[in-house]
Amino acid sequence: MKIPSYLVPTAVLVGALALAPFVLPASLITPLNYIGLYSMVCLGFFLLTGMVGLTSFGQAAFVGLGAYTTALLVTHWGWSPWISLFASLGITALIAWVLGMLTIRLSSHYLVLGTMAWGLGLYYLMGNMTGLGGYNGISGVPPIALPGFDTGSQRSFYVLVWSFNALLFLGAYNLLSSRQGRAIRSLRDTQMSQSFGIPTNRLKVAVFVIAALCAGLSGWLQAHYVTVVNPGPFGISASIDYLFMAVVGGTTSLAGAIAGPVVVEGLRTVVRNLIPGLTGVGGSYEAIIFGLAVIMLLRSAGGGVMAMLKKWLPDAPTPKAPAQASALPRRKMPAQGTPLLSVRSLGKRFGGLVAVDNVSFEMSAGEVLGVIGPNGAGKSTLFNLLTGVAKPSSGLATLVGDALAGRSAREISRLGVARSFQHVRLRPSMTLLENVALGAYSRGHAGLVAAILRYDRSEEACCLFEAQKQLDRVGLGPFANTLAGALPLGQQRTLEIARALAADPVLLLLDEPAAGLRHQEKVALAQLLEQLRDEGVSILLVEHDMDFVMNLVDRLVVLQYGQCIAEGSPQQVRSNPKVIEAYLGGLDGDLL
Ligand code: ADP
Ligand code: MG
Repeated sequence: MKIPSYLVPTAVLVGALALAPFVLPASLITPLNYIGLYSMVCLGFFLLTGMVGLTSFGQAAFVGLGAYTTALLVTHWGWSPWISLFASLGITALIAWVLGMLTIRLSSHYLVLGTMAWGLGLYYLMGNMTGLGGYNGISGVPPIALPGFDTGSQRSFYVLVWSFNALLFLGAYNLLSSRQGRAIRSLRDTQMSQSFGIPTNRLKVAVFVIAALCAGLSGWLQAHYVTVVNPGPFGISASIDYLFMAVVGGTTSLAGAIAGPVVVEGLRTVVRNLIPGLTGVGGSYEAIIFGLAVIMLLRSAGGGVMAMLKKWLPDAPTPKAPAQASALPRRKMPAQGTPLLSVRSLGKRFGGLVAVDNVSFEMSAGEVLGVIGPNGAGKSTLFNLLTGVAKPSSGLATLVGDALAGRSAREISRLGVARSFQHVRLRPSMTLLENVALGAYSRGHAGLVAAILRYDRSEEACCLFEAQKQLDRVGLGPFANTLAGALPLGQQRTLEIARALAADPVLLLLDEPAAGLRHQEKVALAQLLEQLRDEGVSILLVEHDMDFVMNLVDRLVVLQYGQCIAEGSPQQVRSNPKVIEAYLGGLDGDLL
């Protein structure tokens, strides 16, 4: 059996960390203990910043919450540290959840300000709340006893902190290679995620809470390591320090969460000890050296140290589809030929402009319907009304009796509408298989805890199996394990169709799938759509290129200035005087 290449460096790292307490002198164990404490917080940043794209300037406050909770319970009420661990995590999670609900919807710089605000708020609360010992804090927090080690020794703490780290990193790894992990990695593209049924806000808050829990655990450990808790290490500058470490390591790689603290702690020690010795003058050279390091790291576009080491490291593991797994449950499909989509007097106004004006048409199951029209005719707006991206000003649209227009993108996706995007929206750093598996999100149920504990493996196998099946269906099967970003545009469009098919759609909505494609790519796409039509998939195709749709669709609806000017078979439409006039009357005369 071939050993995956990433296993070797992982095994070396884990082996070295496991041996360290037995071979290293105590003077080296201490910095490793701190690195362990920082790595946990950075792991939170890896999920929050690296995966979701949210930045927090208040993580140190969560470290403080974890630390204060245990310090108070253990010293004042005599709780066992192992029981106060649950209290520390519980309180951190609760406060993070409330703060997350309040701040996560804020966009970029407001979010930064928001996290700073509550970071500062919690810091002053810790310093001023009676019973927490003011700025002197709480002392006499007992160290945690580990069997076989001297209580309170550096080695004993090392085993504790790195065992927790091992569990956390394993959990994070499990999470990322799951259905929920894929959803988390797609949260940056809210519109795309929602159109596959992903509850974006809820998931963002959940990741925020998980990141806070990593920080809270670090706080619990810190309290019992340092044995004194005061507000000092939990302020805004500490938060910035944590963020800095995470960025130095690289927030887009799991290993970056360890690499960051290693580099920053290492650099700090070297700068402190070496520079005054070399130059003969003392002083804060740290700021200068760190400033230079930041500039160098910014050049690596957020990838940090791990991006610089990328050349020498094996690729991260990606999930592979199993050879066999049971099929995911399927939707009940309406019988071929029965009414599927009904659009009645649908209208959308933008101020004085009527983009969609009183449009009505019907579509039955198994039909391929084209909506065509020159630029600015209102096609994309109509598409947006049907997919929940925009709300109609008037009229309604129903899918087998359920109202579509006016619902959210997520609700519409749950009803069985899957879509592609005019400007492709894939996750370029995920494989084709993972991108398609994202489409099947709504067909799975495993939650975050199940994913972290790897309790979702049978469902995950079904999900990946389904994704591979859809890739094979559209002819991209052999490329399942390549990154989506490496595909040419034509195949990216095909990949979007496979992703939509993985949702087991009742209705497939395609937004200008031929736009920007070269001739050969268009031919290949047309063949794929013909194949899907023959398989009985109901497709609503919004298209600008009339030649492309002519041989593909059963019926056409022609829009101009937001109004439906003709409807019928391609032949009827082609000879309709209104259509000829609309097209030859100036706009896009070349389309016919
Ligand atoms: P098509 O997709 O057929 O090219 P669109 O639906 O994009 O046409 O646009 C129809 C009309 O609505 C155009 O005149 C366009 O400028 C206008 N429009 C589209 N979206 C908006 C918007 N968000 N705000 C204002 N006007 C819009
Ligand atoms: Mg358009």
